[in-house]
Amino acid sequence: MIATPVKIESVETILVDVPTIRPHRLSVATMNCQTLVLVRIRCADGLVGVGEGTTIGGLAYGEESPESIKVNIDTYFAPLLKGMDATRPGAAMAKLRELFQGNRFAKSALETALFDAQAQRLGVPLSELFGGRVRDSVDVAWTLASGDTQRDIDEAEQVYETKRHRVFKLKIGTRAVAEDVAHVVAIQKAVEGRGEVRVDVNQAWSESDAIWAARRFADAGVTLIEQPIAAENRAGLKRLTDFALVPVMADEALHGPADAFAVASARGANVFAVKIAQSGGLVGAAHVAAIASAANIDLYGGTMLEGAVGTIASAQLFSTFGELKWGTELFGPLLLTEEILTEPLRYENFALHLPQGPGLGITLDWDKIDHLRRDTRKGASVSTN
Ligand SMILES: [Mg+2]
Repeated sequence: MIATPVKIESVETILVDVPTIRPHRLSVATMNCQTLVLVRIRCADGLVGVGEGTTIGGLAYGEESPESIKVNIDTYFAPLLKGMDATRPGAAMAKLRELFQGNRFAKSALETALFDAQAQRLGVPLSELFGGRVRDSVDVAWTLASGDTQRDIDEAEQVYETKRHRVFKLKIGTRAVAEDVAHVVAIQKAVEGRGEVRVDVNQAWSESDAIWAARRFADAGVTLIEQPIAAENRAGLKRLTDFALVPVMADEALHGPADAFAVASARGANVFAVKIAQSGGLVGAAHVAAIASAANIDLYGGTMLEGAVGTIASAQLFSTFGELKWGTELFGPLLLTEEILTEPLRYENFALHLPQGPGLGITLDWDKIDHLRRDTRKGASVSTN
């Protein structure tokens, strides 16, 4: 039976600035604060859906910033969505995609909110709209990105001892390659036999840098190299994959299904980092995963360092993947100093455990969010970097 139409009544976009627990150093930016972009969609049947379109480092990582996401949603997307049928998220998103170019993060936030409300309406977790769960928890890696070798080792020891993480992704690419390699090898030696070490270069190296480093990483036992060279250099990423010393993961090279198809067709990576926002939403990310699986490319669940909303939306989708060999990096909320849920996400035994309730399965603490949101904090002047 087709559901009775339910009008979308309002679409609100909220910027929330939250300091990080420590500086998070990437090759493209150092983050001391994360700006969460939350979307709240109210429907005529009283249901409220939420989504998130958070990105990294203002405009340092990609072409959308928290501010541009908000302005574009408020100016273009929200007026169009108002009055549309909330029981048909697919039709609503098709209209948005037809009328508005790009804006993958904005579209992802809106699509998440529409699916959250619709799953609540049907009384099922969001995962059930994407084929159903094959797992109730996803493994979660931790990113070591303080920039200091000993501090990273201490941090790795601490999160390992508390059984929170045993896979460590090292953010490198800001220093000379030899220094970065020494940093990685020192951490690998410190956690050997207990933890696993991977690296993410965020496009910072030349192809020859990557070849030089890959030999040393292979000798040291590093298990994965993520996006070592520029996203545009697909042929180079393929050559590094063919080099076959350490498996290569594509991340920034994947902006949705069309990129995924191009990289998969060339067999240009061993692993895909699937991200809902980079893919333009949950449906796009599901398609990226399907393309990878069809090409025998392994899957990894990536993050844009989202807060709780984007993190659990990602987990709901990743829980439906047939295989998730490389786990996820859905640790975003753990990097933030403020909790925006009434009940925090459950990280235990090296994994994030999915909630059982309908929709996203989380409850936001709106009093806290109202206190933190940028537009109500008088005289607020917060730098996102
Ligand atoms: Mg990455």
